[in-house]
Amino acid sequence: MDKKDVKSMTLPQLEAELVEMGLPKFRAGQVYRQLFGKLKTDFHHMSDISVSLANQLSERYYITAPQIASKLVSKIDGTEKYLLALDDGNIIETVLMRYEHGNTVCVSTQVGCRMGCAFCASTKNGFVRGLEPSEILAQIETITREHSDEEGFRVSNIVLMGIGEPLDNYDNVIKFLHLVNDKMGLGIGYRHISLSTCGVVPGIKRLAREELPITLSISLHAPNDAIRDTMMPINHKYKIDELLSACREYQKICGRRISFEYALIDGVNDTPTHALELAKRLKGIMCHVNLIPVNTIREKNFKKSTKNSVNLFTKTLNDSKINATVRRKLGSDIDAACGQLRNDHMKNKV
Ligand code: SAH
Repeated sequence: MDKKDVKSMTLPQLEAELVEMGLPKFRAGQVYRQLFGKLKTDFHHMSDISVSLANQLSERYYITAPQIASKLVSKIDGTEKYLLALDDGNIIETVLMRYEHGNTVCVSTQVGCRMGCAFCASTKNGFVRGLEPSEILAQIETITREHSDEEGFRVSNIVLMGIGEPLDNYDNVIKFLHLVNDKMGLGIGYRHISLSTCGVVPGIKRLAREELPITLSISLHAPNDAIRDTMMPINHKYKIDELLSACREYQKICGRRISFEYALIDGVNDTPTHALELAKRLKGIMCHVNLIPVNTIREKNFKKSTKNSVNLFTKTLNDSKINATVRRKLGSDIDAACGQLRNDHMKNKV
């Protein structure tokens, strides 16, 4: 019998399974607390669980346990980048960012990506598979475990901005959100979670109806279709008007401010005219624009906008009553826009 992934189960699911095995329902709660609260990775190391029950459970279930393949720590700001090897040997990236207001983890949602954005390293080696809910959760748990001897360490914020397109792995991502929010587990509040998408419109509309007060982040990167078409293949399917109309619908239902990501690329999308065009399109949406001077990735030759262009772009947006800030770059000494470490690892393997 193939073992089941116990950490992709909700508590009611586990309860139903244990009852079917002839066990009392409360056992599921005990096991759940050990798995999600105490982060145990072996049934035999759980308190309250007898050896015979541990044997029974290990025969039926496996506990996702990625291994740290490598870890880089920034000497400048303490940012930590992890390459994690999943149970099937696939490699993903996870980043811990240490801010004054708390620890933020940036998680991957897929192995590789099929969205094909021209400036992005994650898509370079193609797409392998979506991550299971347990594998998304395990990224935060691994980092929490790594810091277990650090007094009071806690991950307070999560951004789904690592490798992959979250809305292309919809069901598993939603399940992950429920698991990470569970009071028996890490208990991270929805308001402290941001989900970033390149613009999968049906996914945005579906997400609006989940009634999860998370922050929606849209990777816009261009003020018009002509430019966006050249950078992001998803724009051939869903044009900016359709995308922004889905954002308006999302906002109407959820009442939450939307974030727009905008990577500034020298000579491509960074003039004051582009800023004015962008401001006009975003009018009426309660939003914040995150400006990111593009990370030059080795495989592509997009150039970062100059400091002057970045400042002028920001000022033009702000003058047009669009709230915009430049994102501070963290971990610059440990390199790598998301997906870059994984690419290097893949290259070294062949
Ligand atoms: N697929 C999702 C989430 C992963 S990418 C999305 O597209 O939103 C996380 C963010 O990093 C996105 O805004 C993405 O467009 C941006 N990004 C990717 N490569 C980048 C680069 N080289 N420089 C700056 N931002 C980049």
